[in-house]
Amino acid sequence: MDSRVLYGTSRGKINSILYEWTKKFSLITVLFNHKLTDMDFEKKEITLEKRENGEKIIVIVKADKVIAADGLYSMVRRQMDCKC
Ligand SMILES: Cc1cc2nc3c(=O)[nH]c(=O)nc-3n(C[C@H](O)[C@H](O)[C@H](O)COP(=O)(O)OP(=O)(O)OC[C@H]3O[C@@H](n4cnc5c(N)ncnc54)[C@H](O)[C@@H]3O)c2cc1C
Repeated sequence: MDSRVLYGTSRGKINSILYEWTKKFSLITVLFNHKLTDMDFEKKEITLEKRENGEKIIVIVKADKVIAADGLYSMVRRQMDCKC
């Protein structure tokens, strides 16, 4: 590969392609606007918060395994740091 060549792509487009793929799998549920706020490693559950008409709604999800991809300031990593 020529090191002077810069390849770029659209993040929005990649997100949209991935999202369209998730629709093909009934086991995948995509939750928008749900913020992870807590993880309970003993109970194997995560706490998510969403806002509806200004109201805070707590959603608890049971999970044997969690794959985190929540970025640089990862809440999951912070939860692991303080609870391990
Ligand atoms: C200004 C800027 C320019 C960049 N330019 C480039 C570039 O040109 N090329 C390149 O290769 N890289 C670039 N990067 C780096 C690149 O953006 C990151 O390396 C990459 O996005 C990391 O991907 P990620 O999936 O780990 O995290 P992210 O892309 O940060 O995704 C994390 C996701 O988790 C979500 N999230 C976070 N906290 C929570 C929570 N508590 N509950 C629920 N969801 C949560 C966020 O909303 C987000 O959708 C740039 C970064 C910045 C800031």
